[in-house]
This record gives sequence, structure tokens and C-alpha cells, in this order.
Amino acid sequence: MRRIDGRGNQKGQTLTVRTPTKSRKAVIIGGSMAGLFAGNFLLRHGWQVDIYERTHDSLASRGLGIASHGELQELILAAGATVPDPLGVNVIGRSAVDKLGETIASYDYPQQLAGWNGVYRSLLAAFPAERYHRGWELAGIEQNGTTAIARFSDGQAVEADLIVGADGFRSAVRAAIAPGIQPRYAGYVAWRGAVDENELSDVFRAETMDLFSFCFPKAGEFIGYPVPGDDGSAGLGRRRYNFLWYYPISPGMALTDILTDADGIVHEYSISPQLIRPEHIERLRADAQELLPKKFLEPFLQAERFLMQPIYDVESERIAFENVALIGDAAFVARPHVGVGVLKAGQDAYALARCLEPDIPVAEALANYDAARLVEGRASVVAGRRLGAFIEQGLEGPWADPNLKLGVEDIIRVSGRPVQQHDPATASLA
Ligand SMILES: Cc1cc2nc3c(=O)[nH]c(=O)nc-3n(C[C@H](O)[C@H](O)[C@H](O)COP(=O)(O)OP(=O)(O)OC[C@H]3O[C@@H](n4cnc5c(N)ncnc54)[C@H](O)[C@@H]3O)c2cc1C
Repeated sequence: MRRIDGRGNQKGQTLTVRTPTKSRKAVIIGGSMAGLFAGNFLLRHGWQVDIYERTHDSLASRGLGIASHGELQELILAAGATVPDPLGVNVIGRSAVDKLGETIASYDYPQQLAGWNGVYRSLLAAFPAERYHRGWELAGIEQNGTTAIARFSDGQAVEADLIVGADGFRSAVRAAIAPGIQPRYAGYVAWRGAVDENELSDVFRAETMDLFSFCFPKAGEFIGYPVPGDDGSAGLGRRRYNFLWYYPISPGMALTDILTDADGIVHEYSISPQLIRPEHIERLRADAQELLPKKFLEPFLQAERFLMQPIYDVESERIAFENVALIGDAAFVARPHVGVGVLKAGQDAYALARCLEPDIPVAEALANYDAARLVEGRASVVAGRRLGAFIEQGLEGPWADPNLKLGVEDIIRVSGRPVQQHDPATASLA
């Protein structure tokens, strides 16, 4: 095994893509962020790559805002894609307020907040359309020593030197090769919404729009920040305000109830916004009226629809299995407090491509990939779990349990940042 760092680079190498010498065949399952990063990197490493995505439609309307980091731009460029211009909206810093809207903590941390759609579209445009196959759902995998076979739900099968599981937190690839690794519900959901900035008052735009804001309504956490508009524009008057309320819902009956639609159908892990029963939205709005500081009620009540995503941890013990690798959310899911899902998807894909050097067997390359990415994947999960522990425990705020050693200042400083950037004072989070 070669000595490599967490990006799959050998010592001293920078973020570059190596010229290929020989073409091998890769099948990627899942065509979202991780799949597109991997597809583009492997293609530029001389692999013959095909991406198989379950859904028929574009995924571009799926995401809202993502906390972005300098390295995300480097990865987009290294993937051969164009960095969306602008990539995101700038915020000047972070602020936490109490129920009355009074500032209780602030932190000077300028950051760019990107739109999920812009990054996705850019990665998609860089990948050959004829090699991106929509409507293909993986049903199973067979491994035959040096090759692996992906079997799809319509009975078709594709053989390859490498299969990459980039199929998200409920990965069918992971279920086929490591069924013991299961998502674990965190005890709360994220209600998300967004509103055009023109719908917001002048006061909100002047005082709050340019900040990454936090507050801690009873047993939960609310965050809000600006993101580019649907057309990718970050100009004044064109942005959107994105918010997220981490909201406790007990496992068991309460979770099942919120995942049950009006026809009584229980959706296993998540439910489309249009299927959420109106009574849940009504209760959410009532809770907002009672618990949110007045200023956040403004974007909240203007939002036309709400997305509801239960929060899960996925912690894999291995992410490489001979000639099958897991990347992105299929490998690890850190709670979104860390805000690194998209960055990690790109880093995993980059490390995978770097490890797959032409002169070493795929299984050995994947063992190197596993060694390169396992520690960081686990650290992200642990960091996310620590940041959300007070919500999981139903506490009124991080201050309620001194054992957590996590104050409001710590939360606003380390949320939405890669684990390596966490300050020494909170290094234990990693
Ligand atoms: C509430 C919330 C807030 C978040 N905020 C941030 C943030 O601020 N910053 C950030 O970086 N990340 C954030 N994330 C995480 C981020 O969205 C994910 O980490 C990222 O999208 C992972 O990309 P992925 O490609 O691994 O998985 P996914 O985006 O889940 O994509 C998996 C793909 O695989 C396809 N697929 C699934 N099963 C099959 C199958 N059997 N056959 C074929 N295809 C299949 C799916 O259709 C999908 O397109 C957040 C997540 C949540 C829930």
C-alpha cells in the first residue's frame, strides 16, 4: 500500500488530474453530486465511465443552499467543470439571537454560500450526456474477482472493472455489499424553505440578510442564510433567503406519522413536500409563531412550501470492497450541521480517481482509497453528532448540558465548516 494523504495524493502532490495511459471501464451508480464528481474525475483519468441514475428528471431542483468552502472551487475546476459565476452569495459573519431577537453571540467569518443547483448543473454539463443514463435503478451487484456486474431493476446488467456507489444515504450498492451498514435516525428532522429576497422587508434585508444566523428555539436549532436565486444570480434583489429548522420528532410513531401521506402510505425515509399532510405544516407554523424570534417569522411565513428531511447518521466501517467503492453520502452521512456533504462528495471522488493509478490493480487502489478517506469520513460523522447532540437529547440549547462542552459560541464558530478547520478549542468535536 502506498503512503497517501486524505485527498489520495502522494506526499507533495497538489490538486491535479493525471493523464491516462490505459482505458478501463467504470460504472457509477447515482448521478448527483458524488456521481458527477467521480464521473468527471475518472473520465479525465482515462476511464471509460457511465453514470446510471435512478430518476428520469433533472435533479436540479432538489437542493437549496449549501455552505461552500474554498476547496469546492478547486474540485469543480479539477473535475473539468466551470465554476458557476457567481458560485455563491457572500455573508460577512455569523450571529446568534435569543427569542427577543437580541444578539447573544457573533463571529466574524466571511463565507460564500452556494446554490446546490449551480454546482450540480456545472458538473452535469462537463460530463458527456450520452454516458449519463437516466431511469436506471440498481437492484444488485455481483463480484467476479477482477470485474463486477451491476444488475438493474429492468433485468439489464453491465460489467465493469470498477463499480462506484454514489447513490446516497440509502445506497443500494452499500446494501448489496455491506448490508450491515444502516442509516441511524438522529431524533430530529430538518424543515427547510426559501423565499425571494424581494418578499422580505427592508429591515430584514439591511440587518439579517448578509449574516449566517442562528437561534435556538425550544429543543431545536434554526439557521438562515442567503443563497443565489433560482437562476444562479447573486446580485442584490436576486438572492433568496434559505432557512432550516432542526426540529425534534421522536423515533417510532411520531416519525412514522409525519412520513405518512393523506392516503395512509408510509414513506420509509423521506416524503415529497406535496405529500406532507397539511396538519403537520399547520403545527409547524403554529410552533414558529410561538417559538421563533419575530424577525425569522418573516421569511418563515412567506415560504410557499417546506421540505422535510429526517436527519440520519451513516457511519461505514469500510468504503472499499475489492472492485466496488462507496463515495459521498453512500459512504458516510454527517449531519448537515457540519455542512460538508457536497465538499466531501468531491473529495471522495477526487481521492478515488487519484488512487486508481493505471499501474496498480483496482482492488489495491481501492484499499488505498479506503485508507485515505475513512478517517475523515468518520470524523465528519462524529462532529455532526456532537453539534446536534442537544437537539437529539431534547435539550433547550447546547448550554443545557455542560457535559457537551459546547456553547453557542462554539456552535456558531464550527457549524458549516470542514472538520479540519474546526478551531483547536473545539478540536474534540472531531
Ligand atoms: C437538510 C440538509 C441540509 C444540507 N446542507 C448541506 C450544506 O449546507 N452543504 C453541503 O455540502 N451539504 C449539505 N447537505 C448534504 C448534501 O446534500 C449531500 O451530502 C450531498 O448531496 C451528497 O451527494 P451524493 O451524490 O453523495 O448523494 P445524493 O445527492 O443523495 O445522490 C444520490 C443519487 O443516487 C441516486 N440513486 C439512489 N438509489 C439509486 C439506485 N438504486 N440506482 C441508481 N441511482 C440511485 C439518487 O436518485 C440520487 O440522484 C445537506 C443535507 C441535508 C439533508
